[in-house]
Amino acid sequence: MSDPLVSRMRQFGTTIFAEMSALAVRTGSINLGQGFPDTDGPPAMLDRAVQAIRSGANQYPPGPGVPELRQAVAEHRLRHYGLTYDPDGEVLVTVGATEAIAASVLALCEAGDEVIAFEPYYDSYAASIALAGASLVAVTLRPVEGRFTFDPDELRAAVTPRTRAILVNSPHNPTGTVFTAEELAFIAGLCQERDLVAITDEVYEHLTFDGVEHIPLATLPGMRERTVMIASAGKTFSVTGWKTGWVCAPPELVRAVQTVKQFLTFTANGPWQLAVAYGLREELAWVADLRAGLEGKRDRLMSGLAAAGFDVLKPAGTYFVQTDIRPLGFTDGLELTRRLPELAGVVAIPTQVFYDHPERGSHFVRFAFCKKDEVIDEAVTRLKRLG
Ligand code: PMP
Ligand code: GLN
Repeated sequence: MSDPLVSRMRQFGTTIFAEMSALAVRTGSINLGQGFPDTDGPPAMLDRAVQAIRSGANQYPPGPGVPELRQAVAEHRLRHYGLTYDPDGEVLVTVGATEAIAASVLALCEAGDEVIAFEPYYDSYAASIALAGASLVAVTLRPVEGRFTFDPDELRAAVTPRTRAILVNSPHNPTGTVFTAEELAFIAGLCQERDLVAITDEVYEHLTFDGVEHIPLATLPGMRERTVMIASAGKTFSVTGWKTGWVCAPPELVRAVQTVKQFLTFTANGPWQLAVAYGLREELAWVADLRAGLEGKRDRLMSGLAAAGFDVLKPAGTYFVQTDIRPLGFTDGLELTRRLPELAGVVAIPTQVFYDHPERGSHFVRFAFCKKDEVIDEAVTRLKRLG
């Protein structure tokens, strides 16, 4: 039989995260590839999920999400960002940010539309855009003085009459860039000038370092009404397996996204929604500690990788450090990461798979630092064998 997969999905094989985590298990390597913490979220929040199951919250929750979580999300947006969203009609709970992104793209993009994303980009963007029959137009982030950023002229030139939306991920995976007020103002200006919808992926909103604060694009003048703001509990509370995310947007945008979402999954898991509502209300001090701890882990991994011979770029947010592998005599990150278990007993992610122009990222490799200190130290000891 010829390939039964629809042609628009044929360019997508197994995700790099699945490939590299399987490689880590198969070879017994330390996994600094897929970004998931090796410690649990706040204990009282975990208990709340158990309690929700025990007390019978086990049938379909309402399609838009349980009211407690929609209310808690709205309170959180107001407290942190001064943004007002009505929990009834402007907040939609999804199965992780991944479903929120897919449903938003499927709901808002016609076949043939173009969607701008900054490369390297999170892998699900390209697949969601392809499912919609739309095209991804990649604008490259390049290191300038040690920080990945875009060229405003390139971004402006990427907008065409077919451009429907721009996907903005800040704090940005996999580069660790947190867009500045100036960068966001440029994006916001372009969205208004060219009548684009902004779909923002803010799953690392709380994980920023060195006093850098995340600024949601929706807080910029004129942007709330054209922004689909997406976040998730996975990274904020170290529960990446819970797959509980949400969309905040004006009613007509939420209605569009919900129309698609209801036929993907109808609703998201009930017990976890109740637990995340508790987390958003009661556990933000725990999140502040997580952030401080991660900053130390970032520094620990960065100095270890530098000592091992990598050129290291300092991230202002997320779980990830980008390294340039050329000082070690390597040029192809995909080749290196496939051999890294055998060379050093460590797994990492080749950044080039997140590009439409892989040659622009072939010398970068991403390492995750959301791991116990002793795991980071052992990985560094092993990586020193490369030199
Ligand atoms: N966007 C980015 C940038 C991510 O790194 C991730 C992984 N946490 C997601 C979306 C997916 O989030 P979730 O697990 O909530 O679906
Ligand atoms: N967001 C995580 C990362 O970038 C994992 C995502 C996944 O496994 N799909 O590593």
